[in-house]
Parts: sequence; structure tokens; C-alpha cells
Amino acid sequence: MVVGIIGAGPAGIACASILARYQKDVLLFEERAPGGLLNNARWVENFPGLLPMSGEELVDQLKISLRHPHINLVFEKVVQIQKHRVQTSTGQIYRVDQIVLAMGTQPKIMEDWPPNPRVVFEWRDVPKGIHTLGILGAGDAAFDSGLSGLDRKYEVYLWNRSDRMKAIPLLYQSYIQAGGVYFEDEPIHRIHPFENGLLIQTGKRNMNVDVLLVSIGREKKTIIGIDLLDPTIREIGDYAHPLFRQASIAIGDGIRVGLEIILGQE
Ligand SMILES: Cc1cc2nc3c(=O)[nH]c(=O)nc-3n(C[C@H](O)[C@H](O)[C@H](O)COP(=O)(O)OP(=O)(O)OC[C@H]3O[C@@H](n4cnc5c(N)ncnc54)[C@H](O)[C@@H]3O)c2cc1C
Repeated sequence: MVVGIIGAGPAGIACASILARYQKDVLLFEERAPGGLLNNARWVENFPGLLPMSGEELVDQLKISLRHPHINLVFEKVVQIQKHRVQTSTGQIYRVDQIVLAMGTQPKIMEDWPPNPRVVFEWRDVPKGIHTLGILGAGDAAFDSGLSGLDRKYEVYLWNRSDRMKAIPLLYQSYIQAGGVYFEDEPIHRIHPFENGLLIQTGKRNMNVDVLLVSIGREKKTIIGIDLLDPTIREIGDYAHPLFRQASIAIGDGIRVGLEIILGQE
């Protein structure tokens, strides 16, 4: 039996590793880098049983389970699924018996802003060597990325569109104590690119930043052809639970569904 898992984030890695332990063959598809969103996390201190460590360090630990003869990591983007067939952007078609969707989430974007290379949506896409980082957003990921920027000695300006704080107090307080600047109830109306940066316009001020990280929430990803009534297709991790985005939940979910597949074969 071959299981095709789409996405090698924490959920996909956990699912692959339990299946491999039971000697099931796994094709694990990844379009970017194993570890998924966890690669952005500055400091993971809420993972039961583990001492706090950076997201990258935790990803390194997770990647160890991928070194298994039954796991074949395929660095390709999956573009379409049909019953027992997974098609990637190279045109290649892989035959599988079961499919697990572990694609995570995609960032919400500002619909009326034209794409700009200086506007990014994940911390790992913020280039090194800049001086000023703007962040739009007020959740945990926004403040966590703000702290990562301050670690690199950038000036960091964070805009919250509303007067509602969504991040946990610990992250907000750490950001302020580390010297981050916070503007509340101040939506960004416009961004104007210029040669070396972006001019940010709010109703209250105009400011230049080198890069703007937009972190205003995430939503479920999708792929053409997903038939949710097909019992050979399952969902795990942030993709399955976009409102409960936690690595520990994603990992537990991946293991649960892996066991479900194994039990279904007996
Ligand atoms: C800044 C930040 C800080 C965080 N801090 C913490 C923390 O401290 N503690 C915690 O528990 N959680 C934290 N999280 C959340 C945690 O990272 C996620 O809950 C977890 O990574 C979800 O795992 P996942 O495998 O479900 O999805 P993801 O990590 O999103 O992985 C999905 C993977 O699928 C791949 N993929 C998507 N589409 C395709 C396709 N079509 N073809 C091939 N591959 C595809 C993606 O490239 C990605 O690697 C943080 C997140 C962020 C952004």
C-alpha cells in the first residue's frame, strides 16, 4: 500500500513517520521546505514535554523521522488530485492507495494591493540585512515575527488595524519590552513602492519601511479535485483545523490519521 501525503509540515511528517513505522510506503509531497510554517516560529515554548527551542530547531528534530526507507520525500507541488492519482506541477502523476491532505493554510492577503516583492506574508521571506520592518497584524504570529525582527536588530513597526489585541499578553509585552513600536487602531490605507522601500500611509502618519510583513490571518488551502466524500482521502493538521493552529495538534492529528489508515488495512 502507498499513502500519498500532501505537505511535509509537522502534520505530514508525523503521519509519514507512524505509517513508515508500520512499514507502509509513503510518498510525502512538499513544495517548499519540510517543517512548513513552523520554520517561522521564533521560540516554541508551548510544546508539551519539550524544552523551549526555536521553530527551526524543532523542525530539525522532526526531520530526523523522515530518514526512513519507507518514506520518499518528493519535492514537487501537487496541483490536482483524482481518485488514487496525485498530479504535480511537473506533470508527473503518482498512483497511491490513500491520500492525506496536510497542506496547511495560506495567508489572507490585502485584495486591493498589487503584488510587490517588498510585501511578504511569512517571517522566513523577510530578507536579511534590512533596517526597518513594518508588520500589519495583531495576532501571535505578527508579534512573534516582530520579536524575530528585533533579534536581528531591525527597527520594527507593527500596525493593528483595530483596537482589539489578538496576541497573548506574553508576546505583546515581550515585543514592547524589546523595543518594538506598536500602533493600535490604525489601518494601513495605502502602500507606495519606491526604489529602496515602501511608503506606508495610514490616516495618522506616513512612514518608510524596507519590507512589510502582512500577518492578518490564514485560511485553508485548496487543490483541484478534492472529493471530500471519498473515504480514501483524509485531512490533518492546520488544513483540517484552521482555527486551531498549533504544531502539537498537527502532530497528534497526523499520528491519529496514520493509525486510522493502518487499522483500516487490518
Ligand atoms: C510565526 C509563527 C509562529 C508559530 N509559533 C508556534 C508555536 O510557538 N507553537 C505551536 O505549536 N505552533 C506555532 N505556530 C503554528 C505551527 O507552525 C502550525 O500550527 C504548524 O506548522 C501546522 O502544521 P501543518 O503540518 O498542519 O501545516 P504547515 O506547517 O502549514 O505545513 C504545510 C506544508 O504543506 C506544504 N504544501 C502546501 N500545499 C502544497 C502542495 N500543493 N504541494 C506540496 N506541498 C504543499 C507547505 O509548503 C507546507 O510545508 C506558529 C506559526 C507561525 C507562522
